[in-house]
Amino acid sequence: MLSARAKSIKPSPTLAIDAKAKAMKAQGVDVISFGVGEPDFDTPENIKEAAIKAIRDGFTKYTAVGGIDPLKDAIIEKLFRDNGLRYERKEILVSCGAKHSLYNTMQALLDPGDEVIIPSPYWVSYPEQVVLAGATPVFVQTTEAEQFRLNPEVLSQHITPRTKALILNSPSNPTGLTYDRNTLERIAELALERDFHIISDEIYEKLLYEHTTHTSIASLGEEIKARTIVINGVSKSHAMTGWRIGYAAGPGVLITAMTDIQSQSTSNPASISQKAALEAMTGPQDSVGKMLAEFDKRRRHLVDRLNKIEGVHCLYPTGAFYAFPNTSGLYGLSPDISSSSRLAMHLLERAKVALVPGDAFGDDNYVRLSYATSLEDIERGLLRINEALDRLR
Ligand SMILES: *Cc1c(COP(=O)(O)O)cnc(C)c1O
Repeated sequence: MLSARAKSIKPSPTLAIDAKAKAMKAQGVDVISFGVGEPDFDTPENIKEAAIKAIRDGFTKYTAVGGIDPLKDAIIEKLFRDNGLRYERKEILVSCGAKHSLYNTMQALLDPGDEVIIPSPYWVSYPEQVVLAGATPVFVQTTEAEQFRLNPEVLSQHITPRTKALILNSPSNPTGLTYDRNTLERIAELALERDFHIISDEIYEKLLYEHTTHTSIASLGEEIKARTIVINGVSKSHAMTGWRIGYAAGPGVLITAMTDIQSQSTSNPASISQKAALEAMTGPQDSVGKMLAEFDKRRRHLVDRLNKIEGVHCLYPTGAFYAFPNTSGLYGLSPDISSSSRLAMHLLERAKVALVPGDAFGDDNYVRLSYATSLEDIERGLLRINEALDRLR
């Protein structure tokens, strides 16, 4: 019955653990979860009020497919203010979440036979979206020693005449690390020399720690801007994952094609959510800073504690809300713990703690812990992990 396309999609490798964690919770087991990929904070009040007002005002009909002009203008203003990028309305598309923006990009940009370079570890949806567009993902390993930044020399060895695009994600899910300007400049040079596009997923841009700054690769010059599609949204910055608003900024021909694709699939993103996103982008921003300060406290606490576990070491994340510890030193502690997914299953069963195995992101030597959870749960969760591991030593 199923299409070849549907059959080509891999079920998420995290599904087994996720399903088990949910089943345990449903049975009343107190599972502490480090698995979630969304802020635990509530959407700020001013944003909710804007949505309620939209409903009251009857702003509940179809809008322009690519988003209402005031929201596009707020996005244009944001890209100029924060990233030094100049776009026009026809170069902006608002979609149903940044994931949808990425999907539209792949559908409009890729043909069968095209190769898309994905630095590994990677966010789980990139390879699957490339495959759904009929193209081929090409994984390039990055290393902890280089802070999981794509090494331009290693990148150049993987570029072929079929390379159509490279996906960048800084700050990164799952590693929590960020690119520096110098590396981006070298990658941009390669994109111009070897003629490929950059899909730059900047969804965690607002979540940066200590003195880390964010550079959009598109801001490095007009030539690279003309080859880059910038992806961003309000889900992570404003605790709005359920509202489903993301956007793409890029060359007009591509954005037009993406808008046409969107017009034949979802049409406009929800009118009410667009009004909420407009408030998120133009209203007071103090809630963003408060969430960031809280994430920062948790980050330090979690990573300090992880680094005290024998056999585990973890870089300090510079962005997003994930810690990505190397857990390979634990494999072999018992025959039961031979890989990231076996470790995750063991910790779920014995410690009642849920985390995501690194093999889901292309690297079995790691696990991902989200710190979008309370300090108290971080403390309790780490105690449980330590106890479970101590029983094996
Ligand atoms: C959460 C996430 C997204 C998608 O965000 P939505 O706007 O909720 O669709 C995109 N990229 C990465 C890396 C993410 O972690």
